[in-house]
Amino acid sequence: MIIDCHCHAGMGDGLTGPWDTRAPLQDYLRRAMAAGIHRTVLFSAFHSNYAVANQQVARIVASKPERFYGFAFVHAERDRGHVHERVSIAVKRYGFVGIKVHRHDAAITREICAAARAYALPVLYDVAGEVSVCELLAQEYPDVNFIIPHLGSFADDWRAQLAMIDQLVRHPNMYADTAGVRRFDLLEQAVKRAGATKLLFGSDGPWLHPGVELAKIKALRLPPFQESLILGRNFENLISTAWRRKAITAGQRHPNVR
Ligand SMILES: [Zn+2]
Repeated sequence: MIIDCHCHAGMGDGLTGPWDTRAPLQDYLRRAMAAGIHRTVLFSAFHSNYAVANQQVARIVASKPERFYGFAFVHAERDRGHVHERVSIAVKRYGFVGIKVHRHDAAITREICAAARAYALPVLYDVAGEVSVCELLAQEYPDVNFIIPHLGSFADDWRAQLAMIDQLVRHPNMYADTAGVRRFDLLEQAVKRAGATKLLFGSDGPWLHPGVELAKIKALRLPPFQESLILGRNFENLISTAWRRKAITAGQRHPNVR
């Protein structure tokens, strides 16, 4: 079972670039199928109103519930005072299994971490190079799991990505995804030092090609079990509580719940 833990979906309401304009899935799904990717985690593009954006994503997830997982995008500043409510709607109404936060919107807050704790959800937080915050998150919220995309920097900041590997090694609740990471040696180093349990395959689709991103994981030439951790098992473990709750709510037990 190959799970892509990082893909955007739906319409943005900006016009700055693809990241806030639209994230169409048609080509992504064709490419993912050809690459043998079975499931995908979806969250919105940048948006000025994540309540609206999450609702869009919820409709897409509901259209293929066996194919997609949803994460709730929250804005640390704009949604201040409403995060718990937003996350509650996402979990109870949409069946979402995680939270997405981006540093370009605002820095992560205690409010978001507390909501993640309350619902036992992982937080996929794009730190945009500010890896040092992981130290505080690990210290203050050791019971919340964080997935840091792009090994800490979509901008390919070698210093940040190198520092992120240290965070993975030192903190049990810190994970990273592999989306868009260009320096292959850093991926190798991350597995070697932090272990295959700390990395998750993600593509940053639909803007990056999921097959190309998957090829990087295959190129690590890991023993099959280690590879399977990165390709899906680690993600399944991180959402196990949320997934079980969703299955109970839906009145059925999902075959993949462990
Ligand atoms: Zn992304």
